[in-house]
Amino acid sequence: MRPSDSLHSPGRLLQDHESFPVHLIDLTQPHGVLMVLEQTTFTITQISENAACHLKVSPQTLLGQPLLDLIEPTTSMAQLQNCLETCTPHPSYSSIAISVAGVTQHFDGLIHRVNEAIIVELEPASLQTVVELTPLQNQVQRAMARLRKLEDITEFLHAAATEIQSLTGYDRVMVYQFDDNNAGEVIAEVKPAEEVSYLGLHYPATDIPALVRQLYQQTIVRFIPDLTASQIELVSAVPAEAPLDLSQAVLRGVDPCCIEYHQNMGVTALLVVALVRNNQLWGLIACHHRTAKFLPYVVRSACEVLGQLVAAELMSKVNRNELAYLNSLQAIQTDFVDSIARAKDFKQALIHPVPRLLEVVSAQGAAICLDEDITLIGNTPALADVRALIDWSMAEQPTEILHTNCLSNVYPDGGHFQAVASGLIVLKISQLRRYLILWFRPEVLQTVNWAGNPHDSVDVADDGSIVLCPRASFEQWKEIVQATALPWHPAELANALALKNAIVGIVLNKADELAQINLELEHRNLELDSFAYAASHDLKEPLRGITNFSNLMLRRYGQTLDESGVKRLKTLVKLAERMDRLIDALLKFSRLGQAELQFQSTDLNVTLSRVMEMLQTGREGAMPPLQIQVPRQLPTVTADPVLITEVLSNLLSNALKYTHKSEPTIEVGYLDPADPHILSQEIAADACVIYVKDDGIGIHERHFQNIFRLFKRLHERDSYGGGTGVGLTIAKKIIERHGGQIWVESNAGEGTAFYFVLSCEEK
Ligand code: ADP
Repeated sequence: MRPSDSLHSPGRLLQDHESFPVHLIDLTQPHGVLMVLEQTTFTITQISENAACHLKVSPQTLLGQPLLDLIEPTTSMAQLQNCLETCTPHPSYSSIAISVAGVTQHFDGLIHRVNEAIIVELEPASLQTVVELTPLQNQVQRAMARLRKLEDITEFLHAAATEIQSLTGYDRVMVYQFDDNNAGEVIAEVKPAEEVSYLGLHYPATDIPALVRQLYQQTIVRFIPDLTASQIELVSAVPAEAPLDLSQAVLRGVDPCCIEYHQNMGVTALLVVALVRNNQLWGLIACHHRTAKFLPYVVRSACEVLGQLVAAELMSKVNRNELAYLNSLQAIQTDFVDSIARAKDFKQALIHPVPRLLEVVSAQGAAICLDEDITLIGNTPALADVRALIDWSMAEQPTEILHTNCLSNVYPDGGHFQAVASGLIVLKISQLRRYLILWFRPEVLQTVNWAGNPHDSVDVADDGSIVLCPRASFEQWKEIVQATALPWHPAELANALALKNAIVGIVLNKADELAQINLELEHRNLELDSFAYAASHDLKEPLRGITNFSNLMLRRYGQTLDESGVKRLKTLVKLAERMDRLIDALLKFSRLGQAELQFQSTDLNVTLSRVMEMLQTGREGAMPPLQIQVPRQLPTVTADPVLITEVLSNLLSNALKYTHKSEPTIEVGYLDPADPHILSQEIAADACVIYVKDDGIGIHERHFQNIFRLFKRLHERDSYGGGTGVGLTIAKKIIERHGGQIWVESNAGEGTAFYFVLSCEEK
């Protein structure tokens, strides 16, 4: 179907309406002649059928003739030729006089290029009221000066409508603004006193389809001097291959939907000037006249100039207002981010002082969710509702930010708390964890005054399809809009995202700082180990000297010294020997921090029997053989076998030492995965917990940590066979270097159990 076929019917399927190709219409308005020229010879290939009215010859006569042959020799031929040769897709003006059959007529010509063709549109100069250019220019300049002075946007728009009305002489001039959904509202109006006002009325988006909005962006001015006039077909020498694109043609025919729509409003002449901001159609200045009314080209041009000035001024005023708001948002944001960065606990910084988190996006309520911990601030839904909302947003919405000003549209369960949360922003701080901030805005009940019931534009055809027909009535029709909050401003959403980036940055910085501290700690520990090693190593030599000299003195002067002198010398030797043992222990301990671990598969049964052999050799001859219970075969672990031998040896020798029993019961084993010890600790699945249990003197709970400290003994120096207080410190260091942990459980007087974790190969 050609677009023009459907032009005879204003009703149109809803799905066709938005993209209906109104620019491909092959009809023109009758107040001028449209001709299409071949681009090199300027031969007329198509012409509107009304040529005879304006040029006094039939269109058929003109088809195939070069346009320049018709040009009155007085017209500046060179200027027109230049205009034709250099024409662009945007129309340019040329005054043209055409002579046909001895009659000369004057026209305002508009020339532009479409693909390979040139379109020339002629509006008879005789039709035009004599418009003197200078007063018109003065009028536009005065209007501009007046408008520039007005700061208040409402006042400014009203003044702009007044100026356009005085330029055009049209009955009613309205300024119409589009919202985010392309519905429009009349925000300024000048009209005759007796006419009903459209000020404040809303128009559904379907009133101006997408393609028409797009055309307004390109052409700025649309002029239809008589909506009742019959439209004119184009005739061509040979049938056209493709429909002609009349997007930029001032004489472009009118969509019947548009005709019926305006006629239902009582409008016969129409002039629309588009207000474009940042390449977006911000609004329109619509001029209506009850009767047919032609406007000369110069007046329309003046309107276009004024329209562009209004758009520029309006944008700078809107931008200024917006900038002030953006600056205030930015200030809150900077202060906020700064205090979060300095805070130890970023959640506290988010919460205190309360209004800040709300002000950052102008919300009335917020929720901070850090895993299971949810904190509510200001006016929010109940905790259970917030939790459910979070579950939904985690499951449904993978984006880092989600926002709506009508929550119940996307989340029907939100209906019962729409009063506090019709507006919602969900900001995901982490992709892995349940870290989110939610902001809420309350429902704002709005009364929207529609220009006629917008639902009246929609009809259902016999086959069930939805048909749009222009409304018959534009009388005010009120609608109460519910479950809707004030929309989120792009700057508020940007602020929310910036906050997320700041939080992520701060958290990452903190993690970096922690990693840096750990690294330094590691270095320090290594330094400390090598210092301890060097110090203890160097101490050994003078100590050896003290022992040797003391022994020498005992041998040489033992006879001459009195009894107490000998006793003191012997104590000196003993103390030096003890110091030597302590230094050995310290050396061993510091070496542990420096040596590389030799990880290998280590069968603990083998390690245990080696330790038992060593311990057995240390026992006095009279003592019974060492008995250690092993309830089941021990596992094989991945460990340094020499060091694990050291651990077992220390634990077992303690179990033998710290008891009053001559034959203590000692057990070595490992725990089952279901053992409560395992469940209560964080232990990896491939690890095993080995224990050494005795029935000795036990340890008081208050010493459970102390006993692992260097040189810490709980008893007199020489009681329980003496000791250096290093054995458990070494065991702890070895296990921790294996990535495991060691702990003690004990009841004083009943016995002790040491547990340690190693990575297990097989059990
Ligand atoms: P040492 O045995 O050389 O004193 P350790 O570091 O091995 O040093 O032990 C530190 C202290 O922990 C011991 O002095 C002792 O008081 C206590 N201890 C260690 N093992 C046991 C045990 N099995 N039963 C009771 N007390 C123990």
